[in-house]
Amino acid sequence: MERNSEYHSYNIINGFIILERSKENLYRGYDHMKAHFRGNLKFLATETDSLKFQIFDPEDTIIEKMAELKSFVDFSRLPPSHILYDTSIKNKLGSWKLTELNIYQFISLKSKIFSYVCVCDKCFNTFDPKCKFCAYYNRGKIGATGYPKSAAMNLNHQHYNKVLQEKYSEFKLNESRSQFRFNSLDTRRYFVDREKSFALGHYKTL
Ligand SMILES: [Zn+2]
Repeated sequence: MERNSEYHSYNIINGFIILERSKENLYRGYDHMKAHFRGNLKFLATETDSLKFQIFDPEDTIIEKMAELKSFVDFSRLPPSHILYDTSIKNKLGSWKLTELNIYQFISLKSKIFSYVCVCDKCFNTFDPKCKFCAYYNRGKIGATGYPKSAAMNLNHQHYNKVLQEKYSEFKLNESRSQFRFNSLDTRRYFVDREKSFALGHYKTL
């Protein structure tokens, strides 16, 4: 018999609207940051609920500029000793949360595949060979959506760097599961050259 109806145990329309509204909020967050920092802001990457920026600070006013965002950005994730630490809008619905401030290097290979290294708290990236914490920091924090957890566990920032430096580099993530290869080939975008790309279906690619 041909199936002509289906049942969802959740409200699919509500789910759709929540996702659309979250996208709208994401764009609003971007606009707010762009208006606040103007030319000193470089957009790096985004995911469903996060934005990653590089902020340039030619006048050494980053702390004052960030403090002006206190009603918009939740600074409660910073260490309590930090000058910007503030809990006034902690976990407030719809507000942005600052998760990392001192990122030393950020690599985004393709959609949802990124890695970053924070500044070492102990030696402030002087790379003192005696610093035990640098090894921990240099492993980096990685995002590897789509790769199985067991394979992503073995990834570190240096792997991302290797793929970034060698244009078509790829390697097996796990010898026993050779089907998982890590590379920077983005099959979701149309590449004009190494720097410039369009989303699939963009009118300029037709
Ligand atoms: Zn260190």
